[in-house]
This record gives sequence, C-alpha cells and structure tokens, in this order.
Amino acid sequence: MLGNVNVDAVVIGAGVIGTSIALELARSGHRVAVVDKAGGIGHGSTGASSAVVRFNFSTWAGVATAWEARHCWEAWAEHLDAPQADGLARYRRTGLALLDVDLAPRSAFIPLFDRAGVRYEEWDAATLATRLPGIDTGRYWPPSRITEERFWHDPSGTLGALFTPDAGFVSDPQLAAQNLADAARRHGVALVLGQRVVAVPKSGDRVDGVELADGRRIGAPVVVNAAGPWSGGLNDLAGAGADFTIGVRPMRQEVHHVPAQRGYNPPGGFGMAVADLDLGTYLRAEINDGLLVGGTEPACDPFQWLADPDDAHPYPTAEVFEAQVTRAARRFPTLGVPNRPRGVVGVYDVADDWTPIYDRTDVPGFYVAIGTSGNQFKNAPVVGKFLAAIVDRVENGGDHDADPVRFVAEHTGAEIDLSAFSRRRPVNEDSSGTVMG
Ligand SMILES: Cc1cc2nc3c(=O)[nH]c(=O)nc-3n(C[C@H](O)[C@H](O)[C@H](O)COP(=O)(O)OP(=O)(O)OC[C@H]3O[C@@H](n4cnc5c(N)ncnc54)[C@H](O)[C@@H]3O)c2cc1C
Repeated sequence: MLGNVNVDAVVIGAGVIGTSIALELARSGHRVAVVDKAGGIGHGSTGASSAVVRFNFSTWAGVATAWEARHCWEAWAEHLDAPQADGLARYRRTGLALLDVDLAPRSAFIPLFDRAGVRYEEWDAATLATRLPGIDTGRYWPPSRITEERFWHDPSGTLGALFTPDAGFVSDPQLAAQNLADAARRHGVALVLGQRVVAVPKSGDRVDGVELADGRRIGAPVVVNAAGPWSGGLNDLAGAGADFTIGVRPMRQEVHHVPAQRGYNPPGGFGMAVADLDLGTYLRAEINDGLLVGGTEPACDPFQWLADPDDAHPYPTAEVFEAQVTRAARRFPTLGVPNRPRGVVGVYDVADDWTPIYDRTDVPGFYVAIGTSGNQFKNAPVVGKFLAAIVDRVENGGDHDADPVRFVAEHTGAEIDLSAFSRRRPVNEDSSGTVMG
C-alpha cells in the first residue's frame, strides 16, 4: 500500500486478535487495513502463546465464549473459508484436567458447563492416578518457592480433578494468526507490516484513522486497538481510557520446553493438558514428545510487571525455568529438570480482573480488544465477531453502554451479553486473579 489511503476501519495489531477482527469486519462489509510494527503476522504475544484451549472461566461469558471458539478451531478450514486445508494450524484435542484447588473450585465451573453444554467428568484422586499415570495426587496448597523447605514437605491430603475431554491446544499459534490474516486478505483487507502507529488523529471528537512512523496516514472513521501488551500506550495516543474502571498492564512470562515424562504422550499422540494451581503450574504436550510448562501466577513468586513491553528480557531465565519445571516435576516425579533453560518469553496484557475488555471507548470511533490476560488466544475466532457486532451497533447509532450487544453464538446458540467485557464493568470479584481468569 503506497501513499495516504482511506478505509472504513483500521485495526492496530496483526496478532491473533487483530487479524480475527479484521476478517470479521471485512465479512460484514467494511474496507479494512491492519497495521503492525512487526515485519510479520503474530510476532507479539501470539507467537509466544501456549495456545491451550480450555473452558474453565469464572463467568458465564468466559465459558460460553471459549466453548463457542472451540467449535471454530475444530472446523478451522470452514471458519476461514479456506480454499484448502494444507498449511492451516491444527486443533489437537487432548482433554484437560483442572486439578482441584479452592481458588478455582469445581463448583464454580460445573453449573456454567451444564448451561453451556461443556462435557466434563469429575475425578477423585484414584481416577486421576489411573487416567494420568505417574501423577502425584498430593495436595500441596499453597504454592511455595522451590527454595523454601516447605516446598518439599509431605502433602496435606490428595486431590482429584475436573476433566474436560474437548479441551486441547492449537498446534502453531503464529500460523493460526497467519491463517486469519490470509483469510482477511481474501476479503480485501490490506496488511501494512513493519509500520508503527505513532498517532491517532481526530476530526473533531472522532478518530480519523492513524498516522504511521513513515509519515503516511490511513484515514478511517473507525480504529480498533488490538495492540496486545502495547494496548495501554495506544489508548494514551488516542486519548481514551478516562472512563475505564479496569486498567491493563504488561507482565512478562516464560513458558518452558522440556522432554515429556515417560509415558505422558501416547505413541504418535499428545498427552492431556494439566492445569495445576495447587502447585502453580500448567503443562501441555508439544511435538517431538515434548512438554510445555507455564506458570499460574502463584502468589509466592514475584510478578514481572513491565513499564514497557519492549523492556522484557527476551530469554528464559534459570530462576523461572527451575521454579516452573521443578513444580511440574513435583507433580510428575519422573519428569527431568534439564540444566539449561529452554523455552519462550512473552508478555501478557493483564487486566485488573484477568478478564479482557472488548468494547467501544469514550472517543467516538475508537474501539478496544485489549487486556487479554494470557487467556484469550483460544477465543480469538469469536472475539473478531464480538468486535464486528459492537462496531456495527455503535456506528449505527446504538448505545452499547446502556443497551449492550447480546451476541448469539453461531455454533452453540449461547447468548453472551457483551457487557461482561465492558471497559466500565465492576471488577470481576469471582476472578481467580490468575491467568485462569
Ligand atoms: C507466554 C504466553 C502464553 C499464553 N498461553 C495462552 C494459552 O495457553 N491459551 C490462551 O488462550 N491464551 C494464551 N496466551 C494469551 C494469548 O496468546 C494472547 O491473549 C493473544 O495472543 C493476544 O493476541 P493479540 O493479537 O491481542 O496481541 P499480540 O499478539 O501481542 O498482537 C499485538 C500486535 O500489535 C502490534 N503493535 C503494538 N503496538 C503497535 C503500534 N504502535 N503500531 C503498530 N503495531 C503495534 C504488535 O507488534 C503485535 O504484533 C498466552 C500469552 C503468552 C504471552
């Protein structure tokens, strides 16, 4: 794209969220441009994502959105209207065991699962031990630092799990964003890569597109902030945020790659994902008989808040590697803890209640899909539709604040009141205060 151009909507950010929004805006008839400062698609949080698809959220909207999105991943080629299935990310259905923990009890999810139609099984400790051979079913809560003696104390009891057989992961999160970008392009969306948005100019009160670092301007009456962990800075550029009740902040994260414990992955397949807030870790299978190990923000570990996402130290550190993998090895005693840290570093865009903000703002024409809190990769196919519905309602004179969009999910028929993701909502007190949302 050369020179100044005008479109109907500019999306800032070509991660999994921005590309999905661009696709759905284009499908609903808008001329769209997506701008990213990176030279490719999905180079932000998306590229570092563990891409776990699970349904345990603390709200109806969270559960219903994740359950709907899983249908999109399962039928990814259809979701994209892709001409061929080659070169598409794949959904690996492995099931997920959420180990019992008071912070996120089964009783919080089961009524929501029943309402949404999410399949589940309740496991006691004996069943967990049978279904996940090699697991230590001890209850260790609360998580402690691995340098504390307490970490090695005997368990205080045993725990079971809430198992969801339809959970899993997406094989390659960056490829998934690329797939969405390709689908968007087929609908005429322009991708402007390697260009930073440096200003969000206005015409009167309303946004009037974006200004790029090279001085070009893309004119548009609608601008969507899908800038991931950089989203707070973009809100500042647009002068949005004064009426938000929920703040967002970048937080550094590490996810580690280790060889899986013996027998975890079935031959040629993938073992089940485990969310273990009891010890403060989560894990899922990876190709080549590997294992990804991440953290669930145990209160004993320092949180790595960042003033600027670009300040994030880019390599995994021995300290975080040892903490996360040793916790996983406490749960699966045959898991080895390699000497050298290996894995990826990424940055979450954490909302105060770990629930995203999908909304309009008080700046006419400026919309946000932010605060994805380390848990919204899975929802991206549906988030695109949320934003298209909100833009449609507001740009046609509707008042999404007073009369919020009630989104009806295509695959499941669930009705989702999008005020659950409002910038002006009360802080979600039911949130676990972790990546679980
Ligand atoms: C380590 C890690 C593990 C995760 N694991 C999971 C998981 O298992 N399951 C799950 O559901 N979610 C997970 N997540 C969360 C999920 O990956 C994110 O919610 C999702 O990728 C956010 O996508 P996004 O498009 O909003 O942001 P990003 O992918 O960060 O994209 C934002 C884009 O905006 C661009 N940008 C920023 N500022 C500007 C500017 N001024 N001008 C132009 N472009 C700009 C950036 O270059 C970037 O490409 C994880 C996240 C991380 C970091």
